[in-house]
Amino acid sequence: MSQRDADNIEASRWKKKFLDALEANGQREKSLINRIRLLRRGLVGVSLAGDGLDPTLDRELNALRTALRAEDSESGLEVLLERIERSVLRLDTRKEQDHRGIQNALLQSATQLQTLEVSRKLKRALKQYHKSLPGRLKDPQNHAQLVIDLLELLRMVVRELTHQPETDATAPAPGFWSRLFSGTSASEKSDVGAVPTPSPAPASAPNDPGQTSEPAPTAAATAQARPTIKVSAAMPSGPAMRKTESQVEEVDEPAVEEVDLVIDLLGQDPTLSVTADTAAEVLQAELPAATDAEPPAATPVETAAPAATPDASVPSEFEPEPPFSVIANHAEPLILRILDNIYISEQSVGLASRIRSRVARGLNWYEFVAVLEDIATVITSTLEQERSEFQRFLNELNASLGQVQEYVQFSREQEGAARESEKALDVAVRTQISGIAESVQVAENIGELKSVVQGQLNTILSSMDEFKEMKRRQQDAASEHSRQLEARLQAMEAESRELRLHLAQQEQLASRDALTELPNRAAYDRRVRQELDVWRDAAEQGSAGGLCLVVADVDHFKHINDNYGHLAGDKVLRILAKEISARVRQTDFVARFGGEEFVLLLNGIHLADAEMLMNTVRQKIAKCPFHFKEKQVQITMSFGLTEFGLQDLPESAFERADKALYRAKQGGRNRVCVAESSPTVPSPL
Ligand code: GH3
Ligand code: MG
Ligand code: MG
Repeated sequence: MSQRDADNIEASRWKKKFLDALEANGQREKSLINRIRLLRRGLVGVSLAGDGLDPTLDRELNALRTALRAEDSESGLEVLLERIERSVLRLDTRKEQDHRGIQNALLQSATQLQTLEVSRKLKRALKQYHKSLPGRLKDPQNHAQLVIDLLELLRMVVRELTHQPETDATAPAPGFWSRLFSGTSASEKSDVGAVPTPSPAPASAPNDPGQTSEPAPTAAATAQARPTIKVSAAMPSGPAMRKTESQVEEVDEPAVEEVDLVIDLLGQDPTLSVTADTAAEVLQAELPAATDAEPPAATPVETAAPAATPDASVPSEFEPEPPFSVIANHAEPLILRILDNIYISEQSVGLASRIRSRVARGLNWYEFVAVLEDIATVITSTLEQERSEFQRFLNELNASLGQVQEYVQFSREQEGAARESEKALDVAVRTQISGIAESVQVAENIGELKSVVQGQLNTILSSMDEFKEMKRRQQDAASEHSRQLEARLQAMEAESRELRLHLAQQEQLASRDALTELPNRAAYDRRVRQELDVWRDAAEQGSAGGLCLVVADVDHFKHINDNYGHLAGDKVLRILAKEISARVRQTDFVARFGGEEFVLLLNGIHLADAEMLMNTVRQKIAKCPFHFKEKQVQITMSFGLTEFGLQDLPESAFERADKALYRAKQGGRNRVCVAESSPTVPSPL
């Protein structure tokens, strides 16, 4: 073979090799394209599987799918994949944390459940569950089942607690759920009863493929469902609900925590969302049985019979508020006394008498509030009327003062005018007289002189007449003015008299006790200071008279109120006030200090005589024939007595007398006890 032939063979071999390589390459390219296509499809599928785990990742996967579907585009894919990688890493960390959270929550739930007082069998089941937890928790696949198991256990606990027999058969205490959801009304109960009891089996496993394409609810959405689960027994709003809430806080805190814990734990993993719904249903399903045992929700107070004794079988937290009758005996006389004590303007008289008749008919809570509002109206309208009356008086006073000023001005003007006219008259007379003098000098004969002088004198006379007339007119105007002014001043005087009287009445009302009509405590406070000043002045000048203070208190007055009613008690106070006042001297001062306590100021008398006087008063009171319900009842009083010393203040003497009164009470009541005299009391002569 020639060299040329050999070269040709070599060339053909290379050509074939090249063509084979080309074909192989084509095949490889095809299979690569096919593989890329498959990879793209695979990635789209995987990205779909990863959807719903995290909103950021969802967005990125969506972008990835769009990029993958655009066959030609590789641009940006790398950046996108990097972002996805970061998201997946973050998700992985979060998942890890979630799993740890679930583990902790399950362990805590199981531990807390074990502290509940339940049957031994259930205790064992709880213990077993708790024991199995560490092993089963390792695999996140088991978490959903663990939650379901826990719920089942919880349901059993609930059932046991709600059906537990009570130690006190007459008073069945509310069970776990009833304590938790107490206050549910009948209609609400039936609503709750309509919730179907779900099967304890899980609706689907967390890795159920059917669940992956469904967007899982976010943790926030699950958390939103929490209150629904907790209060799904449709708790009534208003006071009953508030009561229930506080009850939950006080009584059932651990139980609520347990429920919270389960709900918390369900909210941790979105893949457990179905289980969360199941949990809600499981928990709700327990409610009807529990709320059936519920006492009826507290009815509004006034619809309950006021005298009804509370049902002993009703737990105390469900007792209705006390009926108004409990305070009626105190409140009604008080309202009447307020009305007696306040000054009622003419326009409020009608309203005040309506309040009185309303009180006489008997009140309830609602009317009580309305009556208080009416009293407020009476007071404000009275104040308003007084304010406007005073305003009117001030306006009139102002107008009258204006008139006085006008008169003064007028008089001044009159005076000025009179001075002017006097001056004019003076000038006129002087002129006429000098005219006469001139006429005398120039007169030729007596006849002419006579007629000239006559003329001048006539002029003078007419000037004087004019002056007189003017003066009269001025006087008339002045007296008319002063007459008007006097009338105004009289009217003003009458008005201010009325106002003074009104003020005096008010002052008297303010210092008088409406029930007993004795001076009240405020009046005593003023009087004791006055008397003390007078006595001190006299004592310092060596006067022999003393000043004694008595504090008196009705014995066992509460019994009278309790046995015969407040109105009877009031009557007793009125009679005692009259009796004490009648038995002491005219110059003594008696006041109602407050409640069933009285104070007396006895002047010009020392301890020994004062003690005698008070013992007479005491004996007279003890002999007063009081009759209640046709039964004679003896009413007595105790007295504490002291004498003022020079260093005493009203308070220090009162304290001594009060202590003496205390001793009188301690010593058996119906007696007068004397306080040791203050060392500064001047010794009687
Ligand atoms: P003691 O002998 O220790 O003084 O017993 P007591 O029951 O009199 O004393 P206490 O202070 O316990 O009771 C006084 C009662 O007087 C209580 C209160 O309701 C009643 N009271 C106070 N003011 C009035 C009132 O204006 N009218 C009536 N009816 N009762 C009043
Ligand atoms: Mg008393
Ligand atoms: Mg008392």
